[in-house]
Amino acid sequence: ETANGPGHSLAFYLSDEDPYSAHRLTIGTELKRALATNELALYYQPKLRLSDMQVVGVEALIRWPRRETEVSAEALIAVAEQTGLIKPLTRWVLTQALSARGKLQAAGYDVTVSVNISPNNLREPDLAEFIQALMRVNPSHQGKILLELTETSVMLDPANSLRVLQALVDAGIPISIDDFGSGYSSLSYIKRLPASEIKIDRSLVTELCHQPDDRVIVNTTIGMCHSLGYHVVAEGVEDIETQTLLHRMGCDQIQGYILTRPVPLAQLFEWLAKRSGQTRSRRADSF
Ligand code: C2E
Ligand code: MG
Ligand code: MG
Ligand code: MG
Repeated sequence: ETANGPGHSLAFYLSDEDPYSAHRLTIGTELKRALATNELALYYQPKLRLSDMQVVGVEALIRWPRRETEVSAEALIAVAEQTGLIKPLTRWVLTQALSARGKLQAAGYDVTVSVNISPNNLREPDLAEFIQALMRVNPSHQGKILLELTETSVMLDPANSLRVLQALVDAGIPISIDDFGSGYSSLSYIKRLPASEIKIDRSLVTELCHQPDDRVIVNTTIGMCHSLGYHVVAEGVEDIETQTLLHRMGCDQIQGYILTRPVPLAQLFEWLAKRSGQTRSRRADSF
C-alpha cells in the first residue's frame, strides 16, 4: 500500500482511460477474495401470509458487511456478473441459504427460503443438478427453496429461460417472478413461464395508499395473477395502511420494512421468537 493509502489507488483507477471498467476490476478482485475468505454474508427478510398472519418464508439477500465503503447488493451483483464471479457467488448463496433453512426447520420454523438468481445463472447447464444435490442432503428442503428471477432477466432470452425454468420446476424448485411491473413485459409473456409466484415491484407498492393509479394497477395485477394461478407477493410494504389495503385486495403475502429490514440469521431467530411470543400472548388475551 502506498503512503497515500487506498484512497489514492482508487483515485488512480478512477482517472484511468476506462475508469468504470478499471474500478470494476478492483472491486472484482476484492469480491473474489471476499468470496474465498467468507467475508460475504446473507441477510434474511421474512414473508408474511396475510390470510393467517403466519411467516411462511424468508428471502436471502447478499451483503458485504465488513467492507470500508459500502457496496449495495445491486452493485455487488453487477460486478459479479461482469467479472465471471456470479456462478461461484450464486452457489455460495445457495449453499448458505439451504443451511439456514435447515437451522430454521430444526427450530420449528418450516419456512420457504427464496434465493435471487441472475440472468447469467440461467446459462449454467447444471444449476438444477447443483440445487438437487444440496436438497438431497436434507429431503425436507424439497419444494421449499424458491428461486426469484426478475421479469427483465427472464425476458432477455425467453426461449432459453423457458427451457431452464422448466428443468428447475421439474427438479422440485419453484420459480418466482421478481420485481413484476418494473419492466416492459406483460403477463401474456410471463404466463408461458412455469412460475408459481409473482412479486409485485416495490415501486408500485410503497406509495399504494397515496397513488390512485398504483392502486388500480396493483388491484388489477392481483386479480389477473390469481386468475392465472399465481400466488401474489407484494414487496416494499412499509406501513400498516398498505398492509391492510393489500389484504383487502386479496394479496397473498407481503414483505417489507413493516415486518423488519433484512437481518442476519441470528437476528431473524430473535425476531421470529419475539413474534411467536406476541402471537401466543394475543391468543391468551382472547380467552
Ligand atoms: P429484490 O430481490 O427485489 O430484493 C428486495 C430489495 O428491497 C432488497 O434490497 C430489500 O432490502 C429491499 N426492501 C425490502 N423491503 C423494503 C421496504 O419496505 N422498503 C424499501 N425501500 N426497500 C425494501 P437489497 O437487499 O439491497 O437487494 C437489492 C437487489 O439485489 C435485490 O432486489 C436483488 O435483485 C439483488 N440481490 C440481492 N441479493 C442477491 C443475491 O444473492 N443474488 C442475486 N443474483 N441478486 C441479489
Ligand atoms: Mg428478490
Ligand atoms: Mg424484488
Ligand atoms: Mg429488486
